[in-house]
Amino acid sequence: AHVDGLTGVANRRRFDEALVLETRRCLHANMPISLLLVDIDHFKNYNDHFGHGMGDIALTRVATTLSQKLARAADLVARYGGEEFAVILPETDHEGATSIAEKLRESVAALNIPHAPGSGASSVSISVGVATQDPGQAMHPSELVEAADRRLYEAKATGRNRVVA
Ligand code: GH3
Ligand code: MG
Ligand code: MG
Repeated sequence: AHVDGLTGVANRRRFDEALVLETRRCLHANMPISLLLVDIDHFKNYNDHFGHGMGDIALTRVATTLSQKLARAADLVARYGGEEFAVILPETDHEGATSIAEKLRESVAALNIPHAPGSGASSVSISVGVATQDPGQAMHPSELVEAADRRLYEAKATGRNRVVA
């Protein structure tokens, strides 16, 4: 009930539960916690060109790569929506989360999955927004998601295939 059927990463329900618990736990431990929102760039073009079945395969490869690159057991990758992922990074400050986000972006680029001609990119890429709850600064989980989402939007608006922190 907590695993996404297509990609095998955590599902939205598990994400929602973990975000509440982990933001609270980190606040009480006086530790930071960061959240990444990840969205595949021009994925509609990918599906339109290669078909939904190939789209599902690419989506799963991206999900697998994101999970494999995370080092700590408490880190959680979840499928947040269609071609969007969320990454919870407990006990990770903004600087650390930004460098992890960049590592994830590079690892997806390194898959070299050919993109659709209409996408304007040679291979499939991700955009990432980074947000952090600093020690002693209680945020509602939804505020953390909104902050990451604003930065993801900025990453899209400024050219995609990038991290905005
Ligand atoms: P952007 O760079 O702005 O994110 O562009 P985009 O095309 O990725 O964004 P948009 O939200 O317009 O389209 C998302 C597309 O992702 C729609 C759909 O074709 C695809 N998608 C969403 N969920 C799935 C899925 O489960 N499987 C497949 N194959 N495609 C999916
Ligand atoms: Mg999207
Ligand atoms: Mg997208």
